[in-house]
Amino acid sequence: MAQEKTESKNQKKRNNETVKHVQLERKRPKLSKVNDSKQSNNNNSKKKPRRRKPAQEKRDPKAVLRIIPLGGLDAIGKNMTVFECKNDMVLDDAGLMFPDDDHPGIDLILPDYTYVLENADKLRGIIITHGHEDHTGALPYLLKDLDRQVPIYATKLTLGLIEGKLKEHKIKNAKLCEVKPGQVIDLGCIKAEFFSVNHSIPDAVGVFYRSPAGNVLHMGDFKLDQSPIDGIQTDFAALARFSKEGVDLMLSDSTNATNPNFTPSEAEVGKALDTIISGAKGRVIVASFASHIHRMQQICDAAVKNGRKVAVTGRSMVQNTDIARRLGYLNISDNDIIDAYDLKGMPPDSYVVMCTGSQGEPLSALARIAGGNHKTISIEEGDTVIISATPVPGNEKAVTRVVNSLAKIGADVYDKSRARVHVSGHAGAEELKLVLSIVRPQAFLPVHGEATHLRAHANLAKDTGVEAENIYILENGESIELSPQGIKIGEAVPSGIVLVDGLSVGDTSEAVLHERSSLGAQGVASIACAIDRSKHELISPVVVEMHGIPGGDDHELVKAVQNAVSSAIKRSLSKQESWKETKKVARSALLSVLWERTNQRPLVIVNILEL
Ligand SMILES: [Zn+2]
Ligand SMILES: [Zn+2]
Repeated sequence: MAQEKTESKNQKKRNNETVKHVQLERKRPKLSKVNDSKQSNNNNSKKKPRRRKPAQEKRDPKAVLRIIPLGGLDAIGKNMTVFECKNDMVLDDAGLMFPDDDHPGIDLILPDYTYVLENADKLRGIIITHGHEDHTGALPYLLKDLDRQVPIYATKLTLGLIEGKLKEHKIKNAKLCEVKPGQVIDLGCIKAEFFSVNHSIPDAVGVFYRSPAGNVLHMGDFKLDQSPIDGIQTDFAALARFSKEGVDLMLSDSTNATNPNFTPSEAEVGKALDTIISGAKGRVIVASFASHIHRMQQICDAAVKNGRKVAVTGRSMVQNTDIARRLGYLNISDNDIIDAYDLKGMPPDSYVVMCTGSQGEPLSALARIAGGNHKTISIEEGDTVIISATPVPGNEKAVTRVVNSLAKIGADVYDKSRARVHVSGHAGAEELKLVLSIVRPQAFLPVHGEATHLRAHANLAKDTGVEAENIYILENGESIELSPQGIKIGEAVPSGIVLVDGLSVGDTSEAVLHERSSLGAQGVASIACAIDRSKHELISPVVVEMHGIPGGDDHELVKAVQNAVSSAIKRSLSKQESWKETKKVARSALLSVLWERTNQRPLVIVNILEL
């Protein structure tokens, strides 16, 4: 198959050839700053900028801190940002993205981290802000590619989840270093201070980077839940302290920047779950994200409060329940949690099933339960199913399919359109503005979002008083250079995406994806025969096979195609045309008959054996 590898220009030949980085992203448009005041919601042109100038002492006039987002600026996924100062480099997050319909057959998408590998000798540490896949998922691949051990810094639960992931990849020698909010670590000339943020997974942190060139605040993923399940709020005091010290540049989560409201508290979901479970007659099945430990806690609490036991099913849900219980992030007594295998014979109203499948994944526990294919859990009329999640964009159809099959059985299905069984883990516009107002950064870089989110967040920053010329909307791979003299755009580095396809990492090109799409949409036809080139003769019958083409098994159609192809090959041979030309006429003969009779243009494979 044709392979088109447009590898990053500056990419050095690496010893480890397991990863070939393919640049598939569109060409970067010119970098844009936000300076169009018409795009702002409020007219702030008369407002005086009220940024606090960071303290200049302790600064090295020659130092430059480069901030390079390698992912996370074109989609919500594959977050990864490089911080580089003098001879030191720190990586903030190493996430992946799940593919959509544009990537048929692809398992995962990673950011192109060629730049990190090229500068691996400077890499002092990898900081992981929390345990979501869009922040941790590329880590096993990156560690396999790095030819030296680099310490990984994360909080306890995040490390627990990373450990499980590394085990699956058979990575044994990773250097995992636990950090706590409030702690400061030295990574060469860069110092990283961790602070608590509230998010849809416990133990999430943001990071305040201090360097001889200036200070950068990276918020991580956050919301401002005032009544969080674990009592840990986003650390306003720390933000105020950073603000006082001076924040030269702030990076912040844009996921919900287009949502004008405050994101509701996770506690709201607990109330809704309690109301639904208390009124349920039969089984209750709750599907959620396997990493949403707060949600799982609330499901457990609502079950126990209503006298029901909890059974967990779905591989990742079972695994994360074990990790979170072991590390003390999920509290339910051994008495109240039961094995899914023990459900047989138990009264349906005596338990709640907590499972994966909130995204409609066809092999997930919920899909198997809905399809009657689950080993131990069945569902019947009158049972209650709660989809305690929101479909990730692209998964809506799959979720609707599962919900419909549950409705056919007669289950009572609740999703967020019917009750508050899900709230987001990301801050809405009002929260983003509040944080911007506390931090008062000199410059602002919206991250973690698609173009629309980044643009909306940029406008929020402007509304809170950040000067328009100090707001940057970057593309992955572009960079910002911070120095005591100010801030400017730096050079771009190689960037793009790397596709993980089964065991192959980075070998699946755009051409392969295109062929896969064509196969799916148009089907395939193959021609096989043998010729004697010296005598210019066809010496075998022409065999044509067709798949995915209407009428492809119709004997009469196959015969007509075979005859047309056979005549075309004979004609070409008698004219002593080249082998390439003979293949070409065989293909055209097949396509012309098929087009005439079926209006189809499949992918054609021609196998002419020369004897
Ligand atoms: Zn997250
Ligand atoms: Zn995220």
